[in-house]
Amino acid sequence: MGRLLSGVVRYIAHYPIRTRGTFCGSLANADPASEWCLVAATLGARMVAKSARGTRTIAAADYFQGMMATALEPDELLAETRLPMPSPDTHFGFYEFNRRAGDFAMVMGLAAYRIEHGVIVDPRVGVGGVEAQPRRISEAEAALKGCAPASDVFRAAADIAAKTVEPIDNKPETAGYKRDLTRTAVQRALEAAEKSL
Ligand SMILES: Cc1cc2nc3c(=O)[nH]c(=O)nc-3n(C[C@H](O)[C@H](O)[C@H](O)COP(=O)(O)OP(=O)(O)OC[C@H]3O[C@@H](n4cnc5c(N)ncnc54)[C@H](O)[C@@H]3O)c2cc1C
Repeated sequence: MGRLLSGVVRYIAHYPIRTRGTFCGSLANADPASEWCLVAATLGARMVAKSARGTRTIAAADYFQGMMATALEPDELLAETRLPMPSPDTHFGFYEFNRRAGDFAMVMGLAAYRIEHGVIVDPRVGVGGVEAQPRRISEAEAALKGCAPASDVFRAAADIAAKTVEPIDNKPETAGYKRDLTRTAVQRALEAAEKSL
């Protein structure tokens, strides 16, 4: 997990910005191109919200509710984010595309899986920067599950991710470009994951 977080953080803006912004602040802001939001959505983080009324925990799948929108009520603070601790044999890969280093991502892919008896188990594939909120692409995960890691398997899952996403920018040329970037980001994240252990 430490390897994943320390790799991903380098893509957040420039040094002075990334050292001042906070993890919970990024999740409260819920920018669709936020790296920490993609990590939280893909790994299934749990958000702890506090107010004078009490404390509640919100699953990532319920927390992100659209473009810069979350399940937090106006009187709630995001007090903690709990990331699940993956087993040490988890492969992680992250890939981000933007035009200049430090810009917000145009598209990001995050992949995590384990290999048991030569095949992929517990695959997670997340995409950010394309739709109004980052999310797991369960169709791509299903295409990986039970397969031996190989470039054609990664390519098939990446193709599925590209077809599944609904880019927020709905001009035909932009949406098509975002789908192409999604394919590349997912494939490269999966390849990076394979080499990560
Ligand atoms: C030039 C520039 C480039 C950037 N590029 C990137 C990038 O590439 N990737 C990226 O992920 N981010 C990027 N950011 C955002 C930045 O990295 C911060 O992480 C992000 O804005 C959160 O900062 P913060 O923790 O200071 O929260 P703030 O900016 O202070 O707060 C953001 C919002 O969340 C609310 N808020 C903050 N904390 C909490 C909390 N605990 N509970 C409830 N509400 C809260 C605030 O009221 C506010 O509405 C960029 C910012 C700038 C200025």
